[in-house]
Amino acid sequence: MVSRIIPVDPFNLVIFGGTGDLARRKIIPALFRRYCAGQFHSKSHIVGAARSDLTIESYRRLIEASLREHAPKRAQDEEALKEFLSRLDYVSLDAKGTAGWNDLVDRVGGTRTEPGQDDRVSVFYFSVGPDLFGPLAERLHRFGLAGADTRIVVEKPFGRDLESARALNVTLAAHFDESQIYRIDHYLGKETVQNLMAVRFGNMLFEPLWNSQYVDHIQITVAETVGVSGREEYYDAAGAMRDMIQNHLMQLLCLIAMEPPAKFDPDAVRDEKLKVIRALDPVMPHHIVRGQFEACLDPERAHPSYRGSVNQPRSTTESYIALRTHISNWRWAGTPFYLRTGKRLKARSSVINVIFKDAPHSIFGEEAGRHANLLSIRLQPNEGITLKVTIKEPGPGGMRLVDVPLDMTFAEALGPSGEDPPDAYERLMMDVIRGNQTLFMRGDEVEAAWSWTDPIIAGWTSRGDVPKPYVSGSAGPIDADLLMQRDGREWRGITP
Ligand code: NAP
Repeated sequence: MVSRIIPVDPFNLVIFGGTGDLARRKIIPALFRRYCAGQFHSKSHIVGAARSDLTIESYRRLIEASLREHAPKRAQDEEALKEFLSRLDYVSLDAKGTAGWNDLVDRVGGTRTEPGQDDRVSVFYFSVGPDLFGPLAERLHRFGLAGADTRIVVEKPFGRDLESARALNVTLAAHFDESQIYRIDHYLGKETVQNLMAVRFGNMLFEPLWNSQYVDHIQITVAETVGVSGREEYYDAAGAMRDMIQNHLMQLLCLIAMEPPAKFDPDAVRDEKLKVIRALDPVMPHHIVRGQFEACLDPERAHPSYRGSVNQPRSTTESYIALRTHISNWRWAGTPFYLRTGKRLKARSSVINVIFKDAPHSIFGEEAGRHANLLSIRLQPNEGITLKVTIKEPGPGGMRLVDVPLDMTFAEALGPSGEDPPDAYERLMMDVIRGNQTLFMRGDEVEAAWSWTDPIIAGWTSRGDVPKPYVSGSAGPIDADLLMQRDGREWRGITP
């Protein structure tokens, strides 16, 4: 099945932090792939902005090298690469000063304070640290670039606690309406995440079973094999709770647990997600396990311990966390949700497992064993969905039962041959241009997530909790297994 390409309106996109890692590795390659797919209008224009004193030519050379590295298949089309680069502009400016701002106004075709001055969609992507969000918002306003239709995109981290997230929301709200602010969580741009909603709300099959009467528990795992290289300072100040649970895993939890929205509309979806976060119980100290990876001495993949990696011999920041939480509402009362994420684990794997209850009575007798259905939603790699069902083992010899997977790997089932499925940033960038906020976090959602997270962090800080060491390349600390075993359950394996 080949996906339909619907071109987006012409746009003018300014990427603050246009020379940075995220812009070069993710945002601009995503735009290039959408350009190659034929999704751009010919009047669309992209401007990189940063302090570095670069000419347009040297900026294009920088981006060309990035595209060859991060979008290698597409970059083989030299004609497309040349045309795309010809749409790129660069302005040197300081987000905290005034240098370069008038130049930016000229490059985007003037100010935006009166309606109808430019028929292109106007987007400013804040691909910079959060300390620059306020100065950028204020200058966009001061230099007449913040029109009523202007959109801004802001990257994570959105604060490091409730107080700082509130302050950021207030700063942005001073210059932009909530309908103009797109807070990115790239997990929401993944194909499977949207498919989760399609599976839940597009089929009659699952929704009647989607509650504590039929679901035993839910596991959400985001496992990484990489360490913290290149992000040491940021990561040691954040840890897995702030870096992953508060945003990515929380968003997945919301989508899996929310009530059906009345329609697939940004505020209807986000209202339902917010209700889930607000219904989360506080997490008990004995329902949390924190870990730090140990050094690996295997010459093939040797690396220092977490503390060695961040060069902080006494660091108590967690590179792993597993926790159990509950949602106090009618649908989910009594069904535990287990969340875990970590670095230097045995495989790179993001998966949601919905484990259904055993059949109430086995007509096949004790020897048939216990069989529970499992719906496994893989986000990466190999995005897809597997439903484990129980059937009779083929052959003579009585009624033996066996579990078999009904598997749908999206790349095989839906992808046009030879093409990679669209990256999350491709989808999210096109949604910004279309003005669709469904897959972006609203300010109150972010604040509610911090309200739940802050007491957990405050709890382990006041207890002087020290993370448990775990073997690099394992599934995490033993205590995480015990967390499950105490409940008579076990984690699903971490497999690529
Ligand atoms: P980075 O590589 O350090 O890039 C920062 C960018 O900001 C550079 O282009 C830098 O260029 C520009 N900049 C810094 N100070 C400036 C100023 N005063 N005025 C104008 N431009 C300025 O950071 P990054 O990795 O791209 O990350 C950007 C943001 O995205 C951060 O908030 C990060 O947490 C978030 N994020 C990154 C990733 C990732 O994979 N990299 C993933 C998720 C979220 P000059 O030095 O030339 O000014």
